[in-house]
Amino acid sequence: MTGAGVLKKKYDIVVVGAGPAGASAAQSAASLGVRVLIVERKPLVGIPVRCAEYIPAPLLGELNVGHRFVVQRVRGMKTILPDGTEKTTLTPGLMIRRDLFDQALCISAQDAGAELLLGTAAVSLEGQRLLLRRRGGDFFEVEAKVVIGADGPHTRVGKWMESVNTHLIAAVQAVVPLVHPLEHTEVYFDKDFCGGYGWLFPKGGEANVGLGIRKDLCNPNILRTAIGGFLERLTREGKIHNAPVSRTAGWVPSEPPRTVVKGRLLLAGDAAGQTHPITGAGVFQAVVGGKMAGKWAATAVRENDLSLLAGYEEEWKDFFGETHERGFQRRLLLDKEWERLDQVIKKCWVAFREYYKD
Ligand SMILES: Cc1cc2nc3c(=O)[nH]c(=O)nc-3n(C[C@H](O)[C@H](O)[C@H](O)COP(=O)(O)OP(=O)(O)OC[C@H]3O[C@@H](n4cnc5c(N)ncnc54)[C@H](O)[C@@H]3O)c2cc1C
Repeated sequence: MTGAGVLKKKYDIVVVGAGPAGASAAQSAASLGVRVLIVERKPLVGIPVRCAEYIPAPLLGELNVGHRFVVQRVRGMKTILPDGTEKTTLTPGLMIRRDLFDQALCISAQDAGAELLLGTAAVSLEGQRLLLRRRGGDFFEVEAKVVIGADGPHTRVGKWMESVNTHLIAAVQAVVPLVHPLEHTEVYFDKDFCGGYGWLFPKGGEANVGLGIRKDLCNPNILRTAIGGFLERLTREGKIHNAPVSRTAGWVPSEPPRTVVKGRLLLAGDAAGQTHPITGAGVFQAVVGGKMAGKWAATAVRENDLSLLAGYEEEWKDFFGETHERGFQRRLLLDKEWERLDQVIKKCWVAFREYYKD
């Protein structure tokens, strides 16, 4: 995928960001017959990977993008509590290669008619005039009737509409060799993992081992030392070889439901804070949110009525609102009561029945 193409200056919709939210938004809008441009600041879609690469199995059925990116199936999730007790939940899932997944979604958007400009960042917006900057420095403008911000946790489009993420979890991850293949994802709670958790997600002979914490709840340096300790623990337990082949880091929104539509602007995926506030899972939400945003944007353009964009926010809230609100309330409780982790964890983690009770 080159991203090359003839640049037209006027678009119905410009999508900022070619992650799962942006590609899905572009695909659904372009398939409704409007002119769509995706701009992505990175030179290659999906690289570097900043993800533990788990998706729920049913997501595959929602997409028509093959399964070349699937590395292994998982039966469910094991949750390991600080006292060592384990709880297994059966939630069939897939471990994927996120780079190939994101690329497959982009190809699908291009097949539907969207243009893709790589190495191009959205810089500012004035009315319908969107200023873009190519890697290397050239600035140029395009016109957009609607702009969809699918530009990740530190969204620039969100700044233009004064709707940004304010509760972010810092995450680090290493890819390590596994001692034995595993059939479940594993999630670890520990007092040292302030406001977050550790994960061991298997993918064939390797695993993504990572840690997310609320840096504002503890000494920010703890992330580096805690991941080292976590890798040593998993090595002692005979699960992994402590020989990282690569490392990555990133930010995960943990937000209350908030405004995702203003004027001609929409937000989707991490830019909209649609990530689950407790689990940090966001790929499914980005795909679904992106598809909805693209559909409503195309409808508003075709009807020449920007007020129709409000339909996106309503549909998102109908679909995800309750789940998201519950997740955010549990997030507040977990942060407040972190010192009493043992007592509150069942109320605050999705594997336990208590989580779903009011
Ligand atoms: C360490 C880690 C592990 C995770 N593990 C999982 C997991 O296992 N399962 C899961 O479901 N979720 C996971 N998540 C969350 C998941 O990765 C995100 O929710 C998902 O990537 C959101 O997709 P998105 O399209 O909204 O944003 P992104 O994937 O972040 O894509 C945004 C894109 O916008 C581009 N961009 C940004 N600014 C501009 C600009 N100004 N102009 C042009 N382009 C721009 C970026 O380069 C990027 O490509 C994890 C996150 C982290 C950090």
